[in-house]
Amino acid sequence: MTASHNRFIQAQQHIPGGVNSPVRAFKGVGGDPVFIDHASGAYIYDPDGRQYIDYVGSWGPMILGHAHPAVLEAVSAVIKKGLSFGAPTQVETAMADRVCELVPSMDLVRMVSSGTEATMSAIRLARGYTGRDKIVKFEGCYHGHSDSLLVKAGSGMLTLGEPSSPGVPAALAQHTITLTYNDIDQVRSTFAEIGEQIACIIVEPVAGNMNCIPPLPGFLESLREVCDQSGSVLIFDEVMTGFRVALGGVQGLYGITPDLTTLGKVIGGGMPVGAFGGKREIMEKISPLGPVYQAGTLSGNPVAMTAGLKTLELIAQPGFHDRLTERTSELLTGIRDAAKAAGVALSTNQVGGMFGLFFTEVDQVTNFAQSMACNQDQFKAFFHAMLEQGVYLAPSAFEAGFVSAAHTHEDIEATIKAASVAFKKIA
Ligand code: PMP
Repeated sequence: MTASHNRFIQAQQHIPGGVNSPVRAFKGVGGDPVFIDHASGAYIYDPDGRQYIDYVGSWGPMILGHAHPAVLEAVSAVIKKGLSFGAPTQVETAMADRVCELVPSMDLVRMVSSGTEATMSAIRLARGYTGRDKIVKFEGCYHGHSDSLLVKAGSGMLTLGEPSSPGVPAALAQHTITLTYNDIDQVRSTFAEIGEQIACIIVEPVAGNMNCIPPLPGFLESLREVCDQSGSVLIFDEVMTGFRVALGGVQGLYGITPDLTTLGKVIGGGMPVGAFGGKREIMEKISPLGPVYQAGTLSGNPVAMTAGLKTLELIAQPGFHDRLTERTSELLTGIRDAAKAAGVALSTNQVGGMFGLFFTEVDQVTNFAQSMACNQDQFKAFFHAMLEQGVYLAPSAFEAGFVSAAHTHEDIEATIKAASVAFKKIA
């Protein structure tokens, strides 16, 4: 009996499923979750003293690696001044200035405490601004767990095989129109029919919750076009991709300007933070400037702002994202070669430091149906074979992987070596 196992048994006494977020329960791969004792750089450690090379990175925030000394130092200094005031502090202004500088489509930004809050608030704002109720999302995209967005969603919803949730009123769900990611024709025909009723499109501009799926050329452009024609608000949900695929997010990488952007993960450096912002004209509708209500007791929390701001400072150093991208490419090249050598059909996707492994004959996975059709049994076996060798991948076939700046060439080589063994085992 391992300490990790014992902790999981104890946890189930008073925590539903023993976890505070479903995907952590390893339902997608079977077996017990690994409890974490501590983490440092590219590694996490379980209570039994085992070390794992980590490709989850707290689901994206730990882009610098775990427990980065400069972030810890900044947080240690600020906590001495008090943990929360519920009143404005200078660090919030510094954060807003920095975010608007790095993401030029954002004139105004409001801080919240999670990605869910960010997207929920952005949707309300888009509805309040346009006076319309309908929203468009894409199948397999996950935007947090607010009611309007839990319709054909990705991430843990897919892992549990329940893309829509009981408890979401049908009267609300009927306003959510779900289209196929990367299907430009479907977007155009929907908008030709009912564009004037649609408040907004919300999209992961690189999808990361049905595994990692980049937009096809022209897809994001077509979203911009139909929104311009119909007066709908274009929301890029960059909770996962913001500051990750490039310093300026997907919008910086591909040069497409959304009206609103939602952020999370990296912006908090591991603390609970989200943000939404965008065009001044729309953001001025938010309270207290305008009538669309939105609030938060802990929003802009000084400890969280400090961790986030220090993280943004460090990742803004020249060449940071190029190095991250190169390291990720090195990993994927090695993994593809290892799969080929073992005769396992595998394709990979990558945008910057974000990646996806697909057990399929398909050359490039571009949509939800293709991701769903991948060989999940092979993924599960691969996941466990990697875990046994000390490599911690996301415990679901529908999650993107993340490389951090702390992953060394040696870590990548060790991972590829483990993958060679794992592929031979599952071939
Ligand atoms: N949007 C996207 C694109 C996400 O990936 C996530 C979380 N994985 C969310 C929103 C929700 O964020 P949170 O879990 O912080 O509520």
